Amino acid sequence: MPDRELVSGDRQIEDLQFETGLRPRRLADFTGQNKLKENLSIAIEAARLRGEAMDHVLLYGPPGLGKTTLAAIIAEELEVTFTTTSGPVLQKKVDLTGILSNIRARQVFFIDEIHRLLPDVEEMLYSALEDFRMDILVGVGPGARTHSLPIPKFTAIGATTRQGLVSAPLRGRFGLVLRLDPYGVPELKAIVLRSARLLSVAIEDGAAEEIARRCRGTPRIANRLLRRVRDYAQVRADGIITQAVAQTALNLLDVDRYGLDEIDQKIMMTILEKYRGGPVGVNTIAASISEEAETIEEVYEPYLIQLGFLNRTPRGRLATELAYDYFNVKPRLRRDDQPGLF
Ligand code: ADP
Repeated sequence: MPDRELVSGDRQIEDLQFETGLRPRRLADFTGQNKLKENLSIAIEAARLRGEAMDHVLLYGPPGLGKTTLAAIIAEELEVTFTTTSGPVLQKKVDLTGILSNIRARQVFFIDEIHRLLPDVEEMLYSALEDFRMDILVGVGPGARTHSLPIPKFTAIGATTRQGLVSAPLRGRFGLVLRLDPYGVPELKAIVLRSARLLSVAIEDGAAEEIARRCRGTPRIANRLLRRVRDYAQVRADGIITQAVAQTALNLLDVDRYGLDEIDQKIMMTILEKYRGGPVGVNTIAASISEEAETIEEVYEPYLIQLGFLNRTPRGRLATELAYDYFNVKPRLRRDDQPGLF
């Protein structure tokens, strides 16, 4: 799914083509997310053994972590056709009818951004997912009749960055609900090395690690940074990506030590400065920086928590000592003169 940072227009199309070339095609080539992969491989194997359609799967997690890639891998492993669409594209029931009437037995039907389906399309999807039937209206005016037609059993894979916005009835129709978490540095380093190999780019271990540390836990950003660094190495160095080349190129791109973007920084500065390190509710943070609370919770916080900058507590978000150090903010006493978190 295209996400927010770094690119626009032509650059985005180029990036999409570039991404396609680097997509792993088999589960064994998909780095990290081990628990999720284990769950998926069991479901794939079971479906293959029984010769049946696999259970529907809902994948959720921040953008660029591999949801679309996994959906394509599942189809590849099951050796079935792969059809894709997305919530915003399915504007009318007739759009969904068109896809469902062409669906083949056991195939994978991928719906990206499934939280953005319109209510009547979503309702139509319920009976397709649960009973493998679709209701179509035949005729017009008072003589029109609804016919319920059977469709072959298939596997739907839904992807969303916003789990909280998927309605309970829709979520309930997915047999497997799996979460993708931001990746750790060793896994990202392996992804960068693999991409460099596919692109025939010479890269040092230390340089791959530098990119891995600065990509916000996200393979899509890692690949994108690799591409920029490769350009720099070709034009300003002798084509080999050493650690020093990677550092200079990334500094030139204003990518900070942890790859934090503007919104990450705003969230942290709001907690640290405006709310003296917290605890502060996510709705209050959201109002302060004009973002939606769900976006903060589901897209930004997972990485900030993984870095150890933020803790979720029942009373709200709390900044950690590490965050004070990194953002260079001095801890202040709270109004009631109690020392803060530490
Ligand atoms: P999402 O659908 O979650 O936004 P994508 O599946 O489009 O993310 O992944 C973005 C890019 O990141 C893909 O082109 C792929 O090359 C790369 N990628 C994602 N996850 C992995 C992984 N686990 N191993 C290797 N590459 C990955």
